[in-house]
Amino acid sequence: MTCKEAIDVLADYIESSLTSELAEELERHLLDCAPCRAYLRTYQKTREITGRVGRAPMPEEMRERLRQFLLDRLRAPGGSPEGRESGPA
Ligand SMILES: [Zn+2]
Repeated sequence: MTCKEAIDVLADYIESSLTSELAEELERHLLDCAPCRAYLRTYQKTREITGRVGRAPMPEEMRERLRQFLLDRLRAPGGSPEGRESGPA
């Protein structure tokens, strides 16, 4: 599983709407991917906070911001080797 795939399924993972097969794959990825673990933590925390304020799901905009944040980190030098697809532009 790549980081991009992991990010795509993280939200479902937190909502517990992931198949056990996919959840297992994601957990395996999280074991050796610190940026994705950080993303998961941030996501969970944000959800906790928004959950306390109201029962609305996480706004799409915030989701997109978190995703962009992680993708930017992966593109930065010294990031996860998995995130580097074609080297610096
Ligand atoms: Zn990752």
